[in-house]
Amino acid sequence: MTEHDSHVQHTWNLTHPVADPITIDLWTDGYSVRVEGGDEQSTEGGRKDVDRFLEKYALRGYWVASDYAVNDPHELEPEPELPDDQPDGCPECGQPCEYKPLYDSGTKEGPAWLCTGCRWRVWSVGI
Ligand SMILES: [Zn+2]
Repeated sequence: MTEHDSHVQHTWNLTHPVADPITIDLWTDGYSVRVEGGDEQSTEGGRKDVDRFLEKYALRGYWVASDYAVNDPHELEPEPELPDDQPDGCPECGQPCEYKPLYDSGTKEGPAWLCTGCRWRVWSVGI
């Protein structure tokens, strides 16, 4: 980590077949946006502006060659915890199954996998 990018939260690198590349930086303060190349210089609109610029430049033929978090400990979403016995799909209709940590069948309560398509379900060992 260099001094130079310690204030940067996320970087988008845009490329174009003929035009110069554009770099968009979202700063760690969550609202400062700096654009290098292109005709935008800087705004304080945060991620909303980044999306706006990405859309704007996409319409001009740019695409995102790469984007990566530079300093971003806060926006990492935790993986949802799921038990290991997830069915590949519903054996009845093939739809994916979703996990209910506390399913009540009327006679029993516990972790279960429920088909999102039909009413098929199977009890789970839980987490
Ligand atoms: Zn089903």
